[in-house]
Amino acid sequence: MKKDIIIVGGGIIGLMSAYSLCRSGRSVTIIDKGDITNGTSFGNAGMLSAFGKNPLSNPGVLLDTLKLMLKGESPVNFHPTLDLNLYKWLWNFAISSNKARLKKTLILFERYGRISLDMYSSMTQDDKMDFHFCQDGLLMIYTEQKSFDKKVRLCRDNTKYEVFTKQKTKEYMPLVNDKIIGSILLKENGHLDPALLMNELKTYLLNKGIEMLLDEEVQRLEYKQNKITKIHTQKMTYEADTFILSTGADDSLSRQVKNNFLMTPAKGYSITFEMKEELKPKTSTLFADLFVAMTPRKNTVRMTSKLELGSANPNIVKKQIDSIYENLALYTHSFEKENIVEWTGFRPLTPDDMPIIGYDENYTNLIHATGLGWLGITFAPAIGKIMSDLITKDKDNKSNLDVLLFSAFYQG
Ligand SMILES: Cc1cc2nc3c(=O)[nH]c(=O)nc-3n(C[C@H](O)[C@H](O)[C@H](O)COP(=O)(O)OP(=O)(O)OC[C@H]3O[C@@H](n4cnc5c(N)ncnc54)[C@H](O)[C@@H]3O)c2cc1C
Repeated sequence: MKKDIIIVGGGIIGLMSAYSLCRSGRSVTIIDKGDITNGTSFGNAGMLSAFGKNPLSNPGVLLDTLKLMLKGESPVNFHPTLDLNLYKWLWNFAISSNKARLKKTLILFERYGRISLDMYSSMTQDDKMDFHFCQDGLLMIYTEQKSFDKKVRLCRDNTKYEVFTKQKTKEYMPLVNDKIIGSILLKENGHLDPALLMNELKTYLLNKGIEMLLDEEVQRLEYKQNKITKIHTQKMTYEADTFILSTGADDSLSRQVKNNFLMTPAKGYSITFEMKEELKPKTSTLFADLFVAMTPRKNTVRMTSKLELGSANPNIVKKQIDSIYENLALYTHSFEKENIVEWTGFRPLTPDDMPIIGYDENYTNLIHATGLGWLGITFAPAIGKIMSDLITKDKDNKSNLDVLLFSAFYQG
């Protein structure tokens, strides 16, 4: 039987799209090649960081990265590859990192960050989901005087920011040593436990009658003229009125229909462990110059870092894990960790931090929803809502202001 909407990919973007579509009364089937238990949407830091924090593509990023590389503290690794798309991506990243773009990106981040925070809040209150949603700010710890001074100059509005001395920083993050410079609390941000969020959403959607077909990989899209007519998995063939591709960093299906999006998988790591309660950070914390994050959760703490470009290796590389520990050890006292779980995943990263969202140019019933990079959890509710508006109200890209503003399809 023909289905109403098929979503390929049950990461946070697929599930939040299903959530909004379901609330609009639509019938949704989610197909995932895995079992939706441990993908990128599970192992990330869970920071909701849309406010006051620069995007990756910001002026000076290349020089700063180079300096950290020379100091041996860089989170970025580049693996030379024959994939020309990566070099095109790097070129576009370099030209996107300019002041005019930064201004626009910060405004867009606030707009879609606000929508998402409000939706997370209503999911906890109205739908009674429990995913450890906290709106208690993001602490940015600085280890370089120059970058701290530069950020302090921008943080004059004390309703949004609070600048902390070294001493005050220790109240929030008892682990830090005297080598840090100071910190800034970005008050509007928050954090959550992404694995709890994914599990709560899955349960909610199943209770609402959403169909989930797991361990089925969509291998081929079949099309006729300007429509996708069928999709084929290794088990079955399905038909639907509308298809959403939310396959994260895996763009093989969109390539099948001749889309060569500027998106690259950026590998990252997380390390989750138990530690003494009194040593835990009081809120989500980012060592801004090192790109190492620590997020407190109900019973554990999660550390995340690394941005590896050009790697397709899905395995945990011990050298990378060791380097996260080494970088952090420079600015913290040593502490005991128990029940350590190491994890790795790929961010679907675009060069200008803009997501790839909207109807396909050639197929009128195909919608793309990916490219959320390092901010997929932060913006997923807003993206889900845009998907629902596109299908239930607007019907095309030009009628949807959010797609025109935010999608990578329409950036200068
Ligand atoms: C180390 C790290 C830390 C991060 N920290 C944060 C953070 O603090 N805050 C934040 O906002 N974001 C963070 N992110 C980014 C965030 O995790 C991602 O942006 C987000 O999870 C992407 O979600 P997605 O749904 O697009 O992709 P995914 O979660 O990857 O989901 C895609 C799904 O599609 C399925 N799929 C793919 N191809 C097929 C196919 N052919 N057939 C069927 N199914 C298919 C996959 O199995 C997968 O389940 C972090 C990422 C990493 C790696």
